[in-house]
Amino acid sequence: MERVLVSIITIGDELLIGQTIDTNSAWMAQQLNAMGIWVQRRVAIGDVKEAILKALEEEGAISDIVLITGGLGPTADDITKPVLTGYFGGKLVRDEITYQRVMQFFESRGLPTLQRNVDQSLVPDVCTVLHNTRGTAPGMWFEKNGKIYVSLPGVPHEMKGLMEDHVLPRLREHFNTPAVMHQTLLTSGMGESFIAERLLSFEAGLPPEIKLAYLPAYGVLKLRLTAFGEDKLSTAAALSIYFHQMKDLLPDIAVADQDIPLAEVLGKILVEKGKTVGTAESCTGGFISHSMTLIPGSSAWYDGSVVTYSNEMKMQLLGVKAETLDKYGAVSEEVVMEMAAGALRQLKTDYIIAVSGIMGPDGGTPEKPVGTVWIAAGSAGELIAVKRQLIYDRYNNIQMTAAYAMNELRKLIV
Ligand code: AMP
Ligand code: MG
Repeated sequence: MERVLVSIITIGDELLIGQTIDTNSAWMAQQLNAMGIWVQRRVAIGDVKEAILKALEEEGAISDIVLITGGLGPTADDITKPVLTGYFGGKLVRDEITYQRVMQFFESRGLPTLQRNVDQSLVPDVCTVLHNTRGTAPGMWFEKNGKIYVSLPGVPHEMKGLMEDHVLPRLREHFNTPAVMHQTLLTSGMGESFIAERLLSFEAGLPPEIKLAYLPAYGVLKLRLTAFGEDKLSTAAALSIYFHQMKDLLPDIAVADQDIPLAEVLGKILVEKGKTVGTAESCTGGFISHSMTLIPGSSAWYDGSVVTYSNEMKMQLLGVKAETLDKYGAVSEEVVMEMAAGALRQLKTDYIIAVSGIMGPDGGTPEKPVGTVWIAAGSAGELIAVKRQLIYDRYNNIQMTAAYAMNELRKLIV
């Protein structure tokens, strides 16, 4: 089966200077990849006519489909539409449906309709208009020399709506693409080079239509298997066989058969056991609790938290002793164990996670450098404490602490 190739062009000066992070092309690539369309290039350019024309030429020469986002706003910096109109040899005409929507949008909000907003309903007469129900700028579908070009607004929410409602269904109709399926094994507790040693002969024996990728993430390592095939059923069957072969080689470090957050893994275990968890957080300031409440249905297993950032709060709310703080310091095994015990008394959850650490960039000492963190996890019957030495910036240290802490509890109760 021939590969269908796509290029994604993202347009906007703000992308080039890093003021806006280009999340559009990442999301689009995921959608296209999932339906068997091969993303071969992603290009970011400024709101510059020559740059847009050059990118259209270059990407049109190598890809079957060119997807473009950005530069469709009502302000002078956005020039994509006139440039495309010129490139595809059309003239701008009013699209009645978009015109009605724009008028209604401003009238219903009691706002005057400015000419620049009315002009949002102008479209080149050589395109198929893709109606945007989430904003005023419509999408535009062009065909030239057997190639497809689609221009979409830069606003991520609007781009996604147009992709889902119009672009992906049309591409599905247009092309006969291979089935592509992924399955991810979440592992924890072993570095990628050691896993690679273990999987040496498994990897060498993989057929060309099965690919393995190593993806380190916070506190875990993801092993993603991808299978390509003619149809979904046989591709899924092949993927499943290799996935289980791989998993059987890693029984001691396999955490989940899906690419899900550690908090969700922990939640599933807790639901199975009919148990609850709470947290006592110092250096993470509620980040662990936040990670847990991001999981839908977390109320079944997560009860609540105490955020005790200062020593006073650790004493007041958790009953940590002044002597312990004096003698060992807030970042110590003794304090984190007292925090955990105090939180178990206060929150009355079955399990607890407590953390105290120095997240940086300041506050380190020779004995306790930046990145030192103590984690306690367990229940009234069995509490453990572990120390970690982290090496990242403040935000990453917080994320890492949360991941390690949840993983410590997971290991203890699984
Ligand atoms: P525009 O269609 O160029 O008017 O873009 C509207 C807004 O969408 C911009 O202000 C950006 O904040 C956002 N945006 C544009 N391009 C991207 C992109 N590639 N990824 C994420 N956000 C974007
Ligand atoms: Mg723009």
